[in-house]
Amino acid sequence: MTIKEACHCGSVEFTLQNDPMMHFACHCSDCQYIWGNSFFGYAYSTDDISITGDVKKYSYEGGSGNQLHYVFCPECGCKIHSQPDLIEGMIYIPCGMLKKHFEFEPKVEIFSSNKASCFAQVKATAESYEHNGTIERIGELLENLEQR
Ligand SMILES: [Zn+2]
Ligand SMILES: [Zn+2]
Repeated sequence: MTIKEACHCGSVEFTLQNDPMMHFACHCSDCQYIWGNSFFGYAYSTDDISITGDVKKYSYEGGSGNQLHYVFCPECGCKIHSQPDLIEGMIYIPCGMLKKHFEFEPKVEIFSSNKASCFAQVKATAESYEHNGTIERIGELLENLEQR
C-alpha cells in the first residue's frame, strides 16, 4: 500500500510504501524536548519514503554518541521524520502524520522510566525497556521487515 501525506502547511509532501515495521514510543529526555513530550510513531525503512518540497535538517549527538537527524518543514516546522545513525536505514515518523491510515498501537516502548506520570501503561505495549533496548528492537524490526 502506498500512502501520501503532507506537513501541516502542505509545502512538504511525502509518500510511504509498505506498512510500518513497528509502532513504538520513546520517553527519552531528548524526545520530550524535541517533540514536546514522548515520541509516538512508526518505524519505516528509509527505502519506504520519498519526499518532495524543501526540507531542513537538524542534527545532534544522541545519548549513544551517534548522530540523530530531524527532517522538518522550514515553513510550518512540522517534523516529517527523524533518523538515527545508530540504526542504519531506519526512520521514525510521528503517528499524528499518518492518523488517517493506521490505528496507533505502540508494541514497544523505550526509556519507560522517564515516562510522564500521566501516561498509564498502554495495553498494546508488549515490551517495555527502561533504557534504549536497541539490540532487542533491531531483532524485532528485522523480523517484521521480513514479514511485511
Ligand atoms: Zn509545512
Ligand atoms: Zn527518544
